[in-house]
Amino acid sequence: MSKQKLIAGNWKMNGSLAANEALLAALRAGLAGTQPICAIAVAVPAPYLAQAQALVSGTPIGLAAQDVSQHDGGAYTGEVSAAMLRDFGARYVLVGHSERRQYHGESDATVAAKAQKALAAGITPIVCVGETLAEREAGQTMDVVRRQLAAVIQANGHCISEIVVAYEPVWAIGTGRTATPEQAQEVHAVLRAQLAAATSAAARVPLLYGGSMNAANAAELLAQGDIDGGLVGGASLKAQDFLQIIAAAGS
Ligand code: PEP
Repeated sequence: MSKQKLIAGNWKMNGSLAANEALLAALRAGLAGTQPICAIAVAVPAPYLAQAQALVSGTPIGLAAQDVSQHDGGAYTGEVSAAMLRDFGARYVLVGHSERRQYHGESDATVAAKAQKALAAGITPIVCVGETLAEREAGQTMDVVRRQLAAVIQANGHCISEIVVAYEPVWAIGTGRTATPEQAQEVHAVLRAQLAAATSAAARVPLLYGGSMNAANAAELLAQGDIDGGLVGGASLKAQDFLQIIAAAGS
């Protein structure tokens, strides 16, 4: 039997108390009475963790945060620590999303340190890697994703089998332009091999694809041998689309 896939929604900086309640109610209704066919998570903005924690309680939906501090606590205004995320029941946290690398200058070392803090707090980091369009066109895709993952492997040693990796080509995020299943699989196979050199448990590290995944293209992407799930931005804000992607992960 193939392993259970993981479909994680990334709400980014979207939502409100009312909109979150409506979206999570629609997801709960859509999942009610069904056996969870894959693992499910939603990454919500930090101020809504408490609200979402209450609304996903008793459902198969796991709670995720979108970022975590590389520090444990103290004079870091605006930061949120892993222990704080754990207080609100976060099971996962995104680290190194390309929007954070690009707009907040997060380096590979910072991303690795964040993954380390999450793991130490018992939270699974979803480590995002991916190349820009310029890097792809320059033939640097594999070098870039290997370098990004290597930093996390180096910092996390024997815990590396506890992470989730999300391959998100930057040119596919929020653009409506998706990597072909073959392009995605090619990168996933490289990431799997890199993990296999670091841990004997590489086969059970979920490798997600992210970048304009939607209800129409999910099944084909998820059918690839090394694609173990999806990290879904825009389509995760529409309950029916997200439910269809979840259904595609079970078929
Ligand atoms: C993302 O934000 O991680 C993402 C993949 O976004 P989208 O699905 O909108 O491309």
